[in-house]
Amino acid sequence: MVASGSHAPMVLHCDNVWIDPPGRFEPRSVELVGGRIELVRDRMTALAAGTRQPDIDLGNAYMMPGLINTHVHLEFSASPDPLREFRREPASDRFARAVRNARSMLLSGVTTLRDCGSSVQLLTGFRRCRDLPALPRLLLSGPPITVPGGHLSIFGGIVSGPDEIPATVSRSISAGARSIKLIGSGGGMTPGSFPEKVAFSQEVFCRVAAEARSHEVASAAHVLAAESVKRAAIARFDSLEHCAFFRRSGCGRLVRHYDAGVAAIIADSGVAVMPNLSTATRAHGTLLREGMQGNPEAQHALDQHEVMLENFRKLVDLGVTMICGTDAGVRDTPFGDTWIELELMARSGMSNIDVVRSASLNAARALKLEGTVGRIAAGHSADFVVLKNSPLADISTYRDPLSVYSDGRRIAPSLANERNGHC
Ligand SMILES: [Zn+2]
Repeated sequence: MVASGSHAPMVLHCDNVWIDPPGRFEPRSVELVGGRIELVRDRMTALAAGTRQPDIDLGNAYMMPGLINTHVHLEFSASPDPLREFRREPASDRFARAVRNARSMLLSGVTTLRDCGSSVQLLTGFRRCRDLPALPRLLLSGPPITVPGGHLSIFGGIVSGPDEIPATVSRSISAGARSIKLIGSGGGMTPGSFPEKVAFSQEVFCRVAAEARSHEVASAAHVLAAESVKRAAIARFDSLEHCAFFRRSGCGRLVRHYDAGVAAIIADSGVAVMPNLSTATRAHGTLLREGMQGNPEAQHALDQHEVMLENFRKLVDLGVTMICGTDAGVRDTPFGDTWIELELMARSGMSNIDVVRSASLNAARALKLEGTVGRIAAGHSADFVVLKNSPLADISTYRDPLSVYSDGRRIAPSLANERNGHC
């Protein structure tokens, strides 16, 4: 255990506490009781009311809400072939890996995460296991709903038609899921599935989103085909994962395009998009480092990366709400660097304040955790990341937090060998 401190009342002061809304820094005393924020107020007002001197004075650092990463896969290994390990390993090994992966995310400043697809044993493990280190708040999805042989059917959440949906959702909720995910199209990671093809009828999209609403949990739709994006937006999922607009070219290649009509439907619906720029950008960097530009397949991938960034910019310009997710655990995508996604969003056309909100206020809303996490305000969980610089001026300051607080407890910073590790 690296967490220190307890749930005893505590007062922190910082010259720059992030207050959002309205979205500005203010000097504030933050008073914690039982792991929650009791009061946020001006120091003079606090002292006049009899509040003691701060237990911790963070001085002129920048106190932000802990990061929220809305899309990871804790059981996966982030190796070049995560499905291979998944098939080979017993559930107990995968659970141990999931705990280590969650732990490394906490040390990097992520205090809330959503696992966006796992085996049911992951739900069972977290429900039963009591002897765990301090971890981020976990919102688990369990096995995503998918067609027979479809993307991520390895997890077992297979349905054949709309009538099976209520029981499937109820089973996941009973097992501990607090988010429901629909695989609305094929996925690149699953052999035999087609990212450019929609997987379910509009009726299924609508029933899954409605079932999630009736259980008051978040809904997410994996959507790589334009038609799947459209159906998920019409069904009012809380978030659209990836949102890629793939189609197959005449020569059989998977290509991204931009469907302005579907983009307008997304913007009108108010549904959030999880763009995940970092996984493809990492692969892009590898191709460049290896000097693969002359290779036709590699050049195609490099060109597609540009289209992805351009599509992202267009959606941002339309006013679509973006939320932070990294797909950590899939191929070559480690757990400790949510900051890369933040930097890419900033570099690709989002304002820094919207990037901050993509991993705080807006992410909390999409996860149905508004009022619980994502703000430094009374009644919210005492989850903070303390930064050297203002992320409004320098988004890269998230790379190296000065300290992380989770549930009112200070997590030791910069345990280098624990922090950047993944299994
Ligand atoms: Zn994923």
